[in-house]
Amino acid sequence: MMKRILCLAACLCVLFTAVARADRAAEEQLMKEIGAFEITAEQRELAKTNEAGYPVLDAGRGNPNWINTQARYAFTRLMNFAVGECERTLNEGSMAGQAKREGIGARFDAAMDPADATDAFLTAAVNYCADTLGLDRDGLLKELVDAVIGGYYPSPSRCLPNTEAILNAFLQATLYGGADLSARTNVFPTEGGSAAMVYIFEALSHNRLLKKGDTIAIATPIFTPYMQIPAVKDYGLVSVDVSSSAEEDWDIAEEELAKLESPEVKAFFLVNPSNPASRALSEKTLERLCRVVEKNPDLIILTDDVYGTFAKDFRSVYAVLPENTILVYSFSKLYGVTGWRIGLIAMHEDNVCDRLLAGLPEEDKAYLRGEYSIVTTEPDAMPFLDRVVADSRSIGLYHTSGLSTPSQVFMDLLALSHLVYADAGGEDPYIRLANDTVHARYTALMKALGLTPDDSAANAQYYTLVDVYALAEAEYGAEFLDWLREERTQIEFLNDLASRKGVVLMYGPGFSAPEGTVRISLANLNTEDYVEIARRLFELLDEYYAESEIGLANAA
Ligand SMILES: *Cc1c(COP(=O)(O)O)cnc(C)c1O
Repeated sequence: MMKRILCLAACLCVLFTAVARADRAAEEQLMKEIGAFEITAEQRELAKTNEAGYPVLDAGRGNPNWINTQARYAFTRLMNFAVGECERTLNEGSMAGQAKREGIGARFDAAMDPADATDAFLTAAVNYCADTLGLDRDGLLKELVDAVIGGYYPSPSRCLPNTEAILNAFLQATLYGGADLSARTNVFPTEGGSAAMVYIFEALSHNRLLKKGDTIAIATPIFTPYMQIPAVKDYGLVSVDVSSSAEEDWDIAEEELAKLESPEVKAFFLVNPSNPASRALSEKTLERLCRVVEKNPDLIILTDDVYGTFAKDFRSVYAVLPENTILVYSFSKLYGVTGWRIGLIAMHEDNVCDRLLAGLPEEDKAYLRGEYSIVTTEPDAMPFLDRVVADSRSIGLYHTSGLSTPSQVFMDLLALSHLVYADAGGEDPYIRLANDTVHARYTALMKALGLTPDDSAANAQYYTLVDVYALAEAEYGAEFLDWLREERTQIEFLNDLASRKGVVLMYGPGFSAPEGTVRISLANLNTEDYVEIARRLFELLDEYYAESEIGLANAA
């Protein structure tokens, strides 16, 4: 009898454990679908009241904890000068008129004090535009003054002309690795890189370049919200992963890249350098990609190069395949301007999208002719990038589309803060500082975790993926790792790290990164905080070890 009861109890126990494990597996699956960002919100809450009473260390966010001051001072100064220009035509109470072009260059020179650092920068920036970019000095100043005042709709709505020249020079200096494309690239400034992505997907779908049932390839692991765009927006796209792994230093292996050779694959979507792994594609992979495109010449490549300036000797996919590639860049990270919402889309004037539009079936063309004829007399000839602009305001409000003009000026000033140094043949001290800052944090973290840092040129070091399973095994052995996998899901581990130790890290599998990985951002805490994160992580693993049977057995 007693035996039977014991047996029953044991059976129930096994059953409950199995059910609990199945529940946990289901929860883990759900979490992967929810995405890394939503999971972190929960840990942020737990960390606030952590058991150890430690100050919270949140290395989840990609938002940098630095800002660029030069462009901000220059923006204020330019606004001041511009208001003065407006007051020359009307000045009553708080009301002024509109600026006049005539003599604006001479008045600007008279207003700038060469002994003042901000004035000297503005003068150097304007001189660079005139002397190196060949822009008309008075025309540039009139555009800058009107734009910073923000008293006119953006015109042309896609991009102010001088802004386009400046942004093109910036992209070429920072992302093209020597390729000369600025004169043949068109730019559409947007409300950040996120808006750029949404606009592009919307226009590709609306223009029937991506249809329901089409296959698109996504380079994974990737920034989670991006994985969700094709799925959530009812575009009906089928996505295939072109994955990279730690074994390949997060570069894309040849077999993975070969998936793109199939003409079934209409578009390829990547973040380069990647997020979360933070690695740039190697030259070898860029070359292989060129060969892939020879086999699938209609492939539309969409690359987000927001971290481009953090990798050494970076070269964008746009630089090697300009006609197939839509480039997205954002100022958010490098310059600490996430609240400004400033980014851009760049496309070559000869591009695959325009070619595909011309080759659409007559039925699709007739539909699109109808769509765009409300804003242009020649809808067939409307370039894809202009359609992106029109679609960003549901076509009908095309005439009020475009990024706010003060935001365009701020982008000009950020770009010029780099260009004046590059033009003088020197190194940009701001970009140097940003790179050195994340490098120091990364180095400290790796050392504290007992890991070998990867200082290769491809590593942007803005984030790092850390394999907690590998750490646990190295420190406490394979049996402990088995225990950890059995007894704690990764979400439970991250919850414990938050609720017991006040540390918030991000869930790697939420980015399609492997089991056991966490993403640590090097952008938003100070160097010593990363040493402390490593210490607390080991403190938790120590506690786990003590809880584990092996720990108990060894202690006995
Ligand atoms: C942070 C980030 C951006 C920036 O987006 P914004 O909307 O410009 O702030 C873009 N792409 C990736 C992959 C990012 O991680």
